[in-house]
Amino acid sequence: MAVKSAPTADGCTGRDTTSRRHLPLKVIDAENVRAGRVRASRMGKRRAAVLIALNVLMIAHVIQWWISGRTVSPIEPSETMYTLRDGAINAGFIFFSLALLSTLILGRWVCGWGCHIVALQDLCGWMMKKVGVRPKPFRSRVLMFVPLLAALYMFVYTPLEPRLFAPPPHDKFPGFSNHLMTEGFWDTFPDPWVAVPFLFLCGFAVVYFLGAKGYCTNACPYGGFFGLLDQLAPGRIRVTDDCAQCGHCTAVCTSNVKVHAEVRDYGMVVDPGCMKCMDCVSVCPNDALYFGFGRPKILAVQRTDKQGRAAWSLTGREELLAVAAFAVGFFAWRSIYDAVPFLMALAVGGIMAFCAVKLLHLARRRNVSIQNIELKSGDRLRPVGKLFVAAVLVALALTGHSGYIRYHEFAGNRAYARVNDFFYQHNMPEEVILDSPELPRLRTAEFDEAVRRGLTHFSRCEDRGLLGSADTRIKLGWLHFLNGALDESAGFFEAARPMVRPKLRGTIDFYLGGVYARQGRIEEAVLAYSSAGEGGTYAFAALVKQGDLLAMLGRLPEAVEVWRRVARIAPRFAPAHHNLGAALRRLNRVPEALEHYEAALNLMPHDPDTHFEVGDLLTQLGRGEEARPHYVEAAEHYRELAARRPNDAKLHFQTGVALTRLGDEQAAAGFFAKAVELDSRYREFLEGGE
Ligand code: SF4
Ligand code: SF4
Repeated sequence: MAVKSAPTADGCTGRDTTSRRHLPLKVIDAENVRAGRVRASRMGKRRAAVLIALNVLMIAHVIQWWISGRTVSPIEPSETMYTLRDGAINAGFIFFSLALLSTLILGRWVCGWGCHIVALQDLCGWMMKKVGVRPKPFRSRVLMFVPLLAALYMFVYTPLEPRLFAPPPHDKFPGFSNHLMTEGFWDTFPDPWVAVPFLFLCGFAVVYFLGAKGYCTNACPYGGFFGLLDQLAPGRIRVTDDCAQCGHCTAVCTSNVKVHAEVRDYGMVVDPGCMKCMDCVSVCPNDALYFGFGRPKILAVQRTDKQGRAAWSLTGREELLAVAAFAVGFFAWRSIYDAVPFLMALAVGGIMAFCAVKLLHLARRRNVSIQNIELKSGDRLRPVGKLFVAAVLVALALTGHSGYIRYHEFAGNRAYARVNDFFYQHNMPEEVILDSPELPRLRTAEFDEAVRRGLTHFSRCEDRGLLGSADTRIKLGWLHFLNGALDESAGFFEAARPMVRPKLRGTIDFYLGGVYARQGRIEEAVLAYSSAGEGGTYAFAALVKQGDLLAMLGRLPEAVEVWRRVARIAPRFAPAHHNLGAALRRLNRVPEALEHYEAALNLMPHDPDTHFEVGDLLTQLGRGEEARPHYVEAAEHYRELAARRPNDAKLHFQTGVALTRLGDEQAAAGFFAKAVELDSRYREFLEGGE
């Protein structure tokens, strides 16, 4: 008869005693810690104080930014990605660099003393301990590589990706720039509400299922690098000859390090999971442990002939199942509905791996428990076990659905990338696409197919997703626009607008302005451009378009104000002065108009339109002699352009008009004839006396 075993410290609770892998610990276990036979760590309180202070400082940092609107950029290792990718030197990069350098000397200490996720895990572990739960580690020999892979993805692949895979102009490193201070403190963080599931998943759920440092061991990308560098560090927990192998150190280590065995075998702790929390040093009854410098782990010499064996939780097949479940969970949930950040998706993957293995145990084993809860006993699934199975099946169903949505997002993004490639090849940025008359002529069957595929896949996400995604809606807005479905395009941009952060609303307003203008909803387009002009990537382009539309509507005083704003923002932007001159001329404010046309001429001295306008204004002011050289310049440049673009009727016509101003009717007649030949509408102009 198989008898249920007592929970062990290796993370596999409730194994059958029939299992040949069950190895009871020879050293002191958690029961003895509870019974007070291991003295309390003095370091625990000190470390808790440091971590509490760290969290208070983090909150103070956010509040200071909230109040003043500007602060030091986030002191988060993840910010290093932006330094490596965009050259933006920020506080996070400096912090992470110093942390890595110090790890090379002192070992992996930042995790234990300077990480808010460890603080969260410690808090959750402490609360669980209060209710009698001592989470045991989930040790997978494959998932332990997740942190390093995640680190390589974040800090190597992500910075290189725009250079290696994306088309230029992103192919060159832009050079370093100073981002130590910022106004957009929260720009690179997920929405604040995400903190709630994040704290629950990366805190309670991870600690309960994967162990006290489950996130560090199975997910944390920063730990991936810290663990690697720790192996080179001379600073380690070391032992004197006074060790009696009592195991108190191992019993208190929340990083699941077999301290007593490692110091016995190597004279030092070699496990890269050691966070230098100093609990083991503090509780050692013989004061045999200390933090000191010497050989690093990679040069460690084994002092005993004992084969230290890691206590893995999983068999080979279970490892495969865990890896598959991790991958499904991670890829299905990552970024779903713009809500699940990378670090949280790693936690979800780890929990999925644990649950998949537990399901397998429930199917195959007679007795199964999680921590101190028995799910199955003597081949009978207990009610709590049924609840667990039901919860896991619901989670799996949700994961399957998320995977379906993520697949369509992925396929949609591939099609969308092809659409973007097309625009890049034709040198058409978004502000040009929105009102480009060239687009219908340039489109290819391949482009149309990419638009169609993008619409199909993103529509699936939109129609079948449980929540909406701003990113998907913006892309649907664009694809419908390119497909000529302007009502749908406007609808998706409008739906996305309230979902994005205020800073990004200007961009969507800019898109909306373009769509409304195409729909002929000019008043709404003016409002959208006005809003977009308040700030953001397209603020300047939006003001330019707003000025154009106001002039088109005949709202000239407003157009003048907008163009003045544009000219103030970019005094060397010649079209601002030209258009300002045009609006003022229509308002019959001739001297002011002349002033701005002349400013435009200084910036683009060969522009025939501006020369022509200056000539006309000078004539109007009775300064005919001064006007003549401008007509000469205008005629000359128009003529050159007409020679280069012989099928452009307008250029021939304008050349004729400029020559007429110069009194050369004979030469003008030839250009007028050519204009009429190319476009018969010019006959009406001429007959109308233009
Ligand atoms: S180092 Fe100290 S606590 Fe650890 S086994 Fe040796 S005597 Fe016990
Ligand atoms: S080995 Fe010692 S210092 Fe390292 S994490 Fe465990 S208790 Fe802390």
